[in-house]
Amino acid sequence: ASAALLAASLAGCGQEARGGSRYEPDTGKGATVGLALPTKASERWMADGENMAEQFEKAGYRTDLQYGDDKVENQIAQIENMITKGRSLLVIAAIDGSALTEVLRRAHDAGIPVISYDRLILGSKYVDYYASFDNERVGRLQARYIVGKLRLGRPTGRGGARTIELFAGSPDDNNTRYFWNGAMKVLRPHLDSGRLVVRSGQTRLGQATTLRWDGGTAQKRMDDLLSKNYGSARVDAVLSPYDGISVGVISALKSAGYGTRSRPLPVITGQDAELASVKSIIRGEQTQTVFKDTRALAARTVAMGDALLNDKKVTVNNTTDYDNGAKTVPAYLLDPVSVDRSNTRLLVDEGYFTAGQLR
Ligand code: BGC
Repeated sequence: ASAALLAASLAGCGQEARGGSRYEPDTGKGATVGLALPTKASERWMADGENMAEQFEKAGYRTDLQYGDDKVENQIAQIENMITKGRSLLVIAAIDGSALTEVLRRAHDAGIPVISYDRLILGSKYVDYYASFDNERVGRLQARYIVGKLRLGRPTGRGGARTIELFAGSPDDNNTRYFWNGAMKVLRPHLDSGRLVVRSGQTRLGQATTLRWDGGTAQKRMDDLLSKNYGSARVDAVLSPYDGISVGVISALKSAGYGTRSRPLPVITGQDAELASVKSIIRGEQTQTVFKDTRALAARTVAMGDALLNDKKVTVNNTTDYDNGAKTVPAYLLDPVSVDRSNTRLLVDEGYFTAGQLR
């Protein structure tokens, strides 16, 4: 502990730290918070980083914000560095949720609390809290949107079966199975009744995942699914868990001749309300996305962190659902919102984008 304290006071002069000028290890205020995020390649994580840095600094803390470039070993090295520098709190959005057991044990030994941010860290007792959105609901919103658009809930007309292909997120991100399970709960009855058909037959999570949520990987898989299973038949919907994946899927569809009057694009879901995808929705290409207000998640995380660092009660709203294999992590879950062409205005009203950005 004394080594950690020494490191902590050295960190007070650290150059990476931004914000406030005081360091008062005893009160919590003025301490430096380590923020370990996965990648700068997606808008949402950039926004998460900026929002948290800003809000932690407003609350009187310094921040040390690091991005792992989607490489597990980078993220582990960054967290190790934060521990060595005596950061007072770690906020981590894991690249690989199962790869942090050892480094979290070190954080624990150094007395540093950990908040798992957006993605649950697995297999470690040393995750103090989890701040995220209701991840299962994200999947349900995507699937419900598809069911509504394809009118699967209505009595069968002359239309017959509709076709769908399924995409899932990165297999090492714990959120992936929540999104998938949520979506499949809604789609399963329609697949079972035969009104909805996956022509490729790829209906298991293991067949649908997209390593590191990579759009290019999704594009290749979609190219393949179309050329092997569709021919002159049409795909009516694509379950996509993330806007970056939807972009890849849309490219593949366009290369296969979709996006014309005689062969319109299918219903395509997404997640994160990234600017390019919201514009795509307005243009009529991607159909839907799930808006998760990263400002609200940052605010919730800052409140958790501030309470933790000052020995105050931490507010949570879920103490049952997020078992990480080593403990059930107390969580605060925010509500995701479905967005399509009819309500993109909401993003402007909420101040997430300006009207000009969406033009
Ligand atoms: C996040 C999503 C995001 C995805 C890819 C997930 O863990 O919850 O918001 O789309 O990672 O970055």
